Amino acid sequence: MKYIEPHAHMVSRTTDDYERMALAGCTAVCEPAFWAGFDRSSVDGFHDYFCQLTEHEPRRAAKFGLKHFCWLCINSKEAEDVKLAEEVITLIPQFLNRPNVLGIGEIGLNKNSRNELRVLEMQVELAAKHGQLILVHTPHLEDKLKGTRLILDVLKHDKRIKPERVIIDHVEEHTVEMVLEAGMWAGMTLYPETKCTPARVIDILEAYGHERLWLNSACDWGVSDPLAVPKTAVEMKKRGHLPSAIEQVIFSNPEKFLKQSGKFKTG
Ligand SMILES: [Zn+2]
Repeated sequence: MKYIEPHAHMVSRTTDDYERMALAGCTAVCEPAFWAGFDRSSVDGFHDYFCQLTEHEPRRAAKFGLKHFCWLCINSKEAEDVKLAEEVITLIPQFLNRPNVLGIGEIGLNKNSRNELRVLEMQVELAAKHGQLILVHTPHLEDKLKGTRLILDVLKHDKRIKPERVIIDHVEEHTVEMVLEAGMWAGMTLYPETKCTPARVIDILEAYGHERLWLNSACDWGVSDPLAVPKTAVEMKKRGHLPSAIEQVIFSNPEKFLKQSGKFKTG
């Protein structure tokens, strides 16, 4: 098996995780900028984080034969402080030409607040201005449906944004259809406790087909499993999915989307 992990927060993981992912067939890992589990106190904290994502983490991944790519942004959980968000957004362009930067992400909404929405619009503007791909985080549980609608409205409103250059992540049964209908890509996240289980992901694939869909573990500092993608591939095989269909969702689809950046390649 070979696969791409298109959404993983490797700064929170150990070298054992890199080794196990490489053994399972991972060829490239992509790391969206994320909340650290605590609020950073200044723009300098983001500067150091962006250096970590673009300099240190690719070197750590390379020791295990893995290509490492990243996305840059201020996440929605830290978007209540609009002034800080403005400072971080001003900082981002100087990093965009670095060789492992794929685009702007994971932007989006968390509690669907007014400030989050404002910061989302600022970052969509940043992506449009610099011709960047966009990766979107959608809210949890009861906020997901409304948040996904709000996010799609913002993206559709900006005519510079091409839908095929946007991936909406953490879709579930009730949000996948509106994302695919908008012409965007949809990511399904495999979490042990919330988001999707392998069985639910496979149900969604059986209902909606294999086009413009990918799987990710979104492994981070919380309860999560860096091997969730290859484990789900095994479940797909058990449910009778053809090897070509499995390969499409765990490798070809993310490769096709990410290559639009002009930088992505597998190891
Ligand atoms: Zn994430």
